[in-house]
Amino acid sequence: MNKVLRGCRIDREGCPFCRGHSFEQKTVIDDTLANTWELSQRERSWFDEREGHFCRTCHMSKRVRMLLWSLKKIFPEFNALHILHLNQTNGLSQALSGAASLIETTYLSDRELGAEIHGLSNQDMTRLTFGNSRFDLVVHSETLEHLHDYELALSEARRVLKPGGYQIYSIPLLHDRQTRRRIAWDADGKLIHLHPLSTHGLEEEYPVVWEFGGDFISNRTELIYEIHYDNYLKNKTVFTIVERKA
Ligand SMILES: [Zn+2]
Repeated sequence: MNKVLRGCRIDREGCPFCRGHSFEQKTVIDDTLANTWELSQRERSWFDEREGHFCRTCHMSKRVRMLLWSLKKIFPEFNALHILHLNQTNGLSQALSGAASLIETTYLSDRELGAEIHGLSNQDMTRLTFGNSRFDLVVHSETLEHLHDYELALSEARRVLKPGGYQIYSIPLLHDRQTRRRIAWDADGKLIHLHPLSTHGLEEEYPVVWEFGGDFISNRTELIYEIHYDNYLKNKTVFTIVERKA
């Protein structure tokens, strides 16, 4: 791993999207999620800041502003880029709209992969229908924790990148824990709940499969190009991972 930037201070010059300087903090982590995730008060406040600290002007959350800050750090201009934006991060589409090409995706298991559905490409992140070396940038946010084989999804994203292209993403992660699996398959292909069902917000059809810990990063040390933190000392959950395809 090359570089860890620990104090990016993404809002120093205003919101990275709209340059607004006014922000508000809302409470978004509810008791159910905090209990199933076994968050301490401190950890809960970190995730509340990450998900509930909004720009008053464009309503982008801190996590998405962090992601956009990282995208701009790696690519100061998007207009020459061919971008794959997996599973549409809230609020990010408009920021990416100036790209040379932008493909955004959804996933409906009962529809053909690669089909276009309301302007979105139907894609399973573990079986992308795109050819090799097609994109300059692949972006995704808060999706890997819902996938049984997240490592396959990461390698699929890498496969469709051009050499020298970047995969930039965020995941919910607590550095001082070990990664924990909440849901697995049994020998007959049935789901087993190793821990009580946990969801993020209203996405009950996409339960949390993995709770990531610091080992996620140490296991990918060879693959990670940079990690960007907004303010490492204050909140280690607000960060972006940047991987580069050699
Ligand atoms: Zn804004």
